[in-house]
Amino acid sequence: MTRRTRFAPSPTGRLHLGHALAAKEAFGFGPCLLRIEDIDHTRCKPDYTRGIYRDLDWLGLDWPLPVRVQSRHYLDYANSVAHLLEKGLAYPCALTRSELKAGARSKPENTLSPESYLGIFTNADGMPNTKPSLPYAIRLNLSLALRSMGGSSLTFEETGHNITGKFFDARAPLEDWAASERPDPIIARKDIGVSYHMAVTYDDNLQGITHVVRGMDLFEETPLHVLIQHLMGWPTPIYHHHALLTREDGEKLSKRGLDTSLETLRENGLTAAQVLAMAAP
Ligand code: GLU
Repeated sequence: MTRRTRFAPSPTGRLHLGHALAAKEAFGFGPCLLRIEDIDHTRCKPDYTRGIYRDLDWLGLDWPLPVRVQSRHYLDYANSVAHLLEKGLAYPCALTRSELKAGARSKPENTLSPESYLGIFTNADGMPNTKPSLPYAIRLNLSLALRSMGGSSLTFEETGHNITGKFFDARAPLEDWAASERPDPIIARKDIGVSYHMAVTYDDNLQGITHVVRGMDLFEETPLHVLIQHLMGWPTPIYHHHALLTREDGEKLSKRGLDTSLETLRENGLTAAQVLAMAAP
């Protein structure tokens, strides 16, 4: 099988050493596409996107064109959400975080027509809405979705963090989630009309990604991605979650605000080779 992976940063700030590590892992893995994951129009900025191209170029990385820029394709992701609404596997949820915390449960019986949902992605002039938002979130009805799979197994192959060829069961953690008090997963966010989970799985399928190379912080999201792939009829790629950059005390770098941008490192006179050498777990 010809390998194909992707590097998929979100332009919510400047790239830092953690991104350099992720880029090194992805580009070092095999033919690698670049994808700009900028559906969150409340946080992403064109200037940060320009910074991504500049930093990756400086690191000496090369990617084929065209680059997939997610914010140009809201309707693609929305059509996938609409498909699940149509099948009765997703429902609108107007409950706030504090209501959910106080024990309120969303009501899957609320319905939303796929047509009125899709309507928010087009402006009155028929042009794409570049800043879609909804009056509520759309959640996947997890227990119903799992039941709709019958007895079929939901697994994914993981080759990352020092394990090779190991299959993980995606069904068990999702069954636990469905049986818990945790609210159902959001597949369309109220503030942006779609979600990371739909966009990332849609694009991995569209771009024929055979290996998803990404940080360990996303390992726990993978069972949901596997379920979405099954519900949508998309193949499950092989996953390769790599170790994250940590401080000596084991904290993830960016969480402590100790990350220095690649731009600053460059301005301070470091070479790309030095930065790539520093970008190690
Ligand atoms: N856009 C995500 C991030 O910057 C990566 C998503 C993925 O690789 O699945 O963390």
